Amino acid sequence: MSAQHKAIRNIAIIAHVDHGKTTLVDSLLAQSGIFRDNEAVPTCVMDSNDLERERGITILSKNTAVDYNDTRINIVDTPGHADFGGEVERVLGMVDGCLLIVDANEGPMPQTRFVLKKALEQGLRPIVFVNKIDRARVDPETAVDKVLDLFIELGADDDQCDFPYLFGSGLGGFAKPDMKTDSDNMQPLFDAILRHVPPPVGDVEKPLQLQITTLDYSDFLGRIIIGRVHNGVIKQGQSASLIKDDGSIKRGRISKLLGFQGLQRVEIDEASAGDLVAVAGFDDVNIGETIACPDEPTALPLIKVDEPTLQMT
Ligand code: GDP
Repeated sequence: MSAQHKAIRNIAIIAHVDHGKTTLVDSLLAQSGIFRDNEAVPTCVMDSNDLERERGITILSKNTAVDYNDTRINIVDTPGHADFGGEVERVLGMVDGCLLIVDANEGPMPQTRFVLKKALEQGLRPIVFVNKIDRARVDPETAVDKVLDLFIELGADDDQCDFPYLFGSGLGGFAKPDMKTDSDNMQPLFDAILRHVPPPVGDVEKPLQLQITTLDYSDFLGRIIIGRVHNGVIKQGQSASLIKDDGSIKRGRISKLLGFQGLQRVEIDEASAGDLVAVAGFDDVNIGETIACPDEPTALPLIKVDEPTLQMT
């Protein structure tokens, strides 16, 4: 990769509802230096969707980027609900690692099982975060044992069963490798992500290939495509080809290229293999299709989805 491209880690965050995804991501954001000292950290940043607020559960996937020691960590929220099975697989197909959050008191719950199964099937090796250890009468060590039992039951391979784990509190903003160590910050978790999540593979020298993972819409930009640049470089304003799922090809232009920064989408000039981006310029698109270089348009393989998918509008 050329010098201007930062190191990247792409990680999905998976958990049973209420085990603390939103609070933990808030805490990572707050400690990544994105917010100025006197700026309040918004609460429930990943639950911004009205429907989610109404139901009190996280449904749509959201991207958040945090910077830590010259590495950009793209964190993708994963719906834990079985109705969104297809969405879970697509999100997991976009990342190279995942962070499994488990409530220290409750241990693994049905949605833990559901999302963990998908993550293991995708070949990801989760980092386990035993959360809410600030609470009274928790038994975090037992929670780890139960998580291991679940890994084994779900058919995890030896490498996956040898998962790294940490204890901590999203609310308290700390993570630590064991129950004896003191910690007042999230640094151990940031370090674990850098150490255990492999950097994205992909070749910047190859022709552009971007796979569409999520669709969004804005009144200003129209249809917005969110996906991962698998190979090559994507530039704002460039012409590109959309390879439809029936194999037909449509020419178009990347009219807007956005990257993720904290909770915002910011306009960028270019992005390269491994990065997650939002793109405007193509209207008639479906999830799974490929945006490619117009000279050599080659489709990426479709992400395997074994449940009915929900069309995002
Ligand atoms: P999500 O559904 O996984 O996004 O969970 P939230 O982050 O919304 O947290 C669910 C509830 O657990 C909220 O009431 C949080 O304040 C609480 N919570 C989250 N993390 C912690 C923690 O580390 N310690 C304690 N005591 N409560 C927490």
